[in-house]
Amino acid sequence: MSDYKINTKCVQGGYTPGNGEPRQIPIVQSTTFKYATSEDMGKLFDLEASGYFYTRLQNPTNDMVAAKICDMEGGTAAMLTSSGQAANFYAIFNIANCGDHVVASSTIYGGTYNLFHVTMRKMGIDFTFVSPDCTEEELNAAFKPNTKAVFGETIANPALTVLDIEKFARAAHAHGVPLIIDNTFATPVNCRPFEWGCDIVTHSTTKYMDGHGAGVGGAIVDSGKFDWLAHADKFPGLCTPDDSYHGITYAEKFGQGGAFITKCTAQLMRDFGSIQSPQNAFLLNLGLESLHVRMPRHCENALAVAKYLKSHPKISFVTYPGLEGDKYYELAQKYMPNGTCGVVSFGFKGGRVAAETFMKHLKLAAIETHVADARTCTLHPASATHRQMNDQELAAAGITPDLVRFSCGIEDAADLIADIEQALAHV
Ligand SMILES: *Cc1c(COP(=O)(O)O)cnc(C)c1O
Repeated sequence: MSDYKINTKCVQGGYTPGNGEPRQIPIVQSTTFKYATSEDMGKLFDLEASGYFYTRLQNPTNDMVAAKICDMEGGTAAMLTSSGQAANFYAIFNIANCGDHVVASSTIYGGTYNLFHVTMRKMGIDFTFVSPDCTEEELNAAFKPNTKAVFGETIANPALTVLDIEKFARAAHAHGVPLIIDNTFATPVNCRPFEWGCDIVTHSTTKYMDGHGAGVGGAIVDSGKFDWLAHADKFPGLCTPDDSYHGITYAEKFGQGGAFITKCTAQLMRDFGSIQSPQNAFLLNLGLESLHVRMPRHCENALAVAKYLKSHPKISFVTYPGLEGDKYYELAQKYMPNGTCGVVSFGFKGGRVAAETFMKHLKLAAIETHVADARTCTLHPASATHRQMNDQELAAAGITPDLVRFSCGIEDAADLIADIEQALAHV
């Protein structure tokens, strides 16, 4: 499908049925797969033949959906994971181990920050966090001899900063390491980071890709552009023999386009088992079939809401990278000229109390810890996800006590604005 436009890939990518085969992707609800001889199966265990043997590692339904996401991003190989958290963990741990170091943008999803800063630190992996707005000098200064990757989010959740992908790719490549980007908020409909020098993309498919609040999931896509063998000393896991597969060297056997995902499946999925269920992969595919239709509406609604709030006397600030005058508007125009995402954040002149009052009176927008859903949802972090923090701690996390995150769904913008208007009347 690689010559087709993104809209066509969303609908038809990943699966082309033959004569008499199901039109919709089949759900292969089977833990295991049968073989005629032990020799046949042995070849799979040696990675000498490709095929399925156990759904903890690979499943045909998952692979069809992964192939669609791969096609949408313009990659060479992809895999699904059970969650976005698993995708980011696997993407990093596939190339950075105990004693290694990673440079990451400081404005990333809270769950990812915790994974890196607390849990992966316990595993002996060191992280340096840099502002996405840092200069090239500051960025280059963050690297160490043991740095193995650079990580950021196209549009950060919930900070809504836009990553200067080319700047981060330049620095990563100057130090012989790949740039990994979590493309959850933009989706490949609005931005394809590989076109700007990114090497590996991750997703929480739980968000826009699923889009209906139906299934938690994740994905990893390889661009196939990073030359592991040219930096073999940094990436022994890919460039030296794997004892657990009879001495296979992934970068040699599976090439630049296949090594990363094959190793990630064969080692990390085998050992950690964070596989997506085939049922969830099926639901994810239904979401993907309309992603290109939903994203423009999310963006259109968010822009209408952002414009309305911007001129409202009770609102102190509006953050939306698609809004002219936003700090990230120019970067967003460069990397996402067709739209950014549906999430807007804003604050109240009346502070925390005003935010709480506003939330109490919303009727259409539901209070949820979710974002990027077809139904509008909203959150007041200071009284929910960040409620243990005092005002100083909130400020350090880049969240003011009056901040509300508003994830515009695909309803009618006039109804969303009317809901906001009536809730604001109580403030
Ligand atoms: C939600 C989210 C994640 C985590 O994904 P889960 O599917 O909830 O595990 C990672 N990155 C971003 C940008 C997210 O929004």
